Amino acid sequence: MTHYPAVSLKRGKEESVLRRHPWIFSGAVKSLPPGLAEGDTVSVLASDGTPLGTGYYQIGSIAVRMYSFSARTIDTAFFCHRIAAALRLRRALGLVREDNNALRLVHGEGDRLPGLVVDLFGATAVVQAHTVAMHRQRQAVADALKDVLGDALHAVYYKSEGTLPFKANTGAKDGYLLGGEEEGGEADSVALENGLRFRIDWLEGQKTGFFVDQRDNRDLLRRYAQGRNVLNMCCYTGGFSVYALAGGAERVCSVDSSSRAVELTDENVRLNFPDTDRHEAVEADAFRFLQDGGAKKYDLVVLDPPAFAKHRDAVPQALRGYTRLNELALRHMPAGSLLFTFSCSQAVSRQQFRLAVFTAAARTRRHVSILHQLTQPADHPVSIYHPEGEYLKGLVLYVE
Ligand code: SAH
Repeated sequence: MTHYPAVSLKRGKEESVLRRHPWIFSGAVKSLPPGLAEGDTVSVLASDGTPLGTGYYQIGSIAVRMYSFSARTIDTAFFCHRIAAALRLRRALGLVREDNNALRLVHGEGDRLPGLVVDLFGATAVVQAHTVAMHRQRQAVADALKDVLGDALHAVYYKSEGTLPFKANTGAKDGYLLGGEEEGGEADSVALENGLRFRIDWLEGQKTGFFVDQRDNRDLLRRYAQGRNVLNMCCYTGGFSVYALAGGAERVCSVDSSSRAVELTDENVRLNFPDTDRHEAVEADAFRFLQDGGAKKYDLVVLDPPAFAKHRDAVPQALRGYTRLNELALRHMPAGSLLFTFSCSQAVSRQQFRLAVFTAAARTRRHVSILHQLTQPADHPVSIYHPEGEYLKGLVLYVE
């Protein structure tokens, strides 16, 4: 067992660790060992010296994130153990199938690997570090992935420029290979989700290149799309658009402010429906598009904007943004329409989001009912001890 420098907690501050909350705030720390560097592995001790587990040190309001609530050596074997458990869960969930190979394999705290995200797209893994410790562990993570997945894994990409704390100044370059070989062939960069095909751009795409977290919600939309005119706002790689076409939508319009997203959406539509004339993609700002009455022609609208609040201070402004966006859609949609509306801001609670959408509905003075309350899928698990892991919220509304 490797011996790690000890972080001691103040008296009475061990409570949340004993309840298996994986974060220790800086106010709970009595003393830090001298010379501790960000990302170092530490042993956590209660004020009376009782060992509480193994974690890593971080600069900022969260001082320690826990790897384990017991004494552990943090090495490739440890990552193998955690990743194998994560893979077992995904297999049990039925997500590793012939017709589905895009999934989140590691979801940070929910898989007991705080600060680490791994998405799997067929034979390619994309690793994302949200903390300096996970950045420093990236090679051990890649080695563990190779060990657990064996021949099923051809390449491991590392993509953390957008997620590492700015202060970390790690000089991390984005989209480089941690292991395996560059994926060259066309087939290699196409992933399958519920039988539908998506090209993933692991080098330049946002986050890990594709949002796997909307899988179940897209599938729900597919069930309602028959004969509808669908507007997919903030389409990114066109997930909802492809499902809408698969569900028999009459017409689909995809909107995004990024020209690259518009291209990717067009490409993914062509990949699944080479000859369709039911789809168009438009480069536009969502607010402006809706302000000009853009929702008038559509009886199924998706609003899936980026996280408006990246931290707590931005919540009030984010809520105003959600209210405004939803109001602009609800005001113009014809009677009998469906609205799929989402927030992926972790800092915005489910209740706050619902209140923002309620405010939007109330302003339009229309009759609006909630048909479904949506969340993130099962490959984005939330530790019951860490409610902060819940971030995706959605409502399906019926507008009369
Ligand atoms: N629904 C997508 C994910 C959306 S991510 C999916 O299922 O994969 C958010 C998207 O919103 C990004 O593609 C981003 O380019 C786009 N975006 C950000 N600000 C926008 C704005 N003001 N108007 C339109 N699109 C915007």
